Amino acid sequence: MKYTITEELGTVTHCHCRECRKAHGAAFATLTRVSVGAFKLTSGKGQLTAYESSPGKKRYFCSKCGSPIYSHKVGQDFNVVRLGTLDDDPGAKPSRHIFVSDKAPWYDIDARLPQHAQWPAD
Ligand SMILES: [Zn+2]
Repeated sequence: MKYTITEELGTVTHCHCRECRKAHGAAFATLTRVSVGAFKLTSGKGQLTAYESSPGKKRYFCSKCGSPIYSHKVGQDFNVVRLGTLDDDPGAKPSRHIFVSDKAPWYDIDARLPQHAQWPAD
């Protein structure tokens, strides 16, 4: 599945809410809002499927590989796109953590942790 975004990205957020953690199988999801009209699926449209994670809010994912792509809530004019699925550098970086009260108890938000470009040697 491929998609394209035809507008500049706005605020990029790490969301620690329970639903994002479960949907991504991760400590948090990295998200940004994209206008519905600026988000276009360019291939693999038939692979897109969704489930309603809360009333009126659907989480869309690839039925072939399981990647979470975006979510949309009834009445909103934007999709919330999952940045982990981007191929290119969006030119925007995360600026905040949200739903920290919901964060995984095993995850400490700490920017001072060692950072490795790839899998560490040891
Ligand atoms: Zn969330």
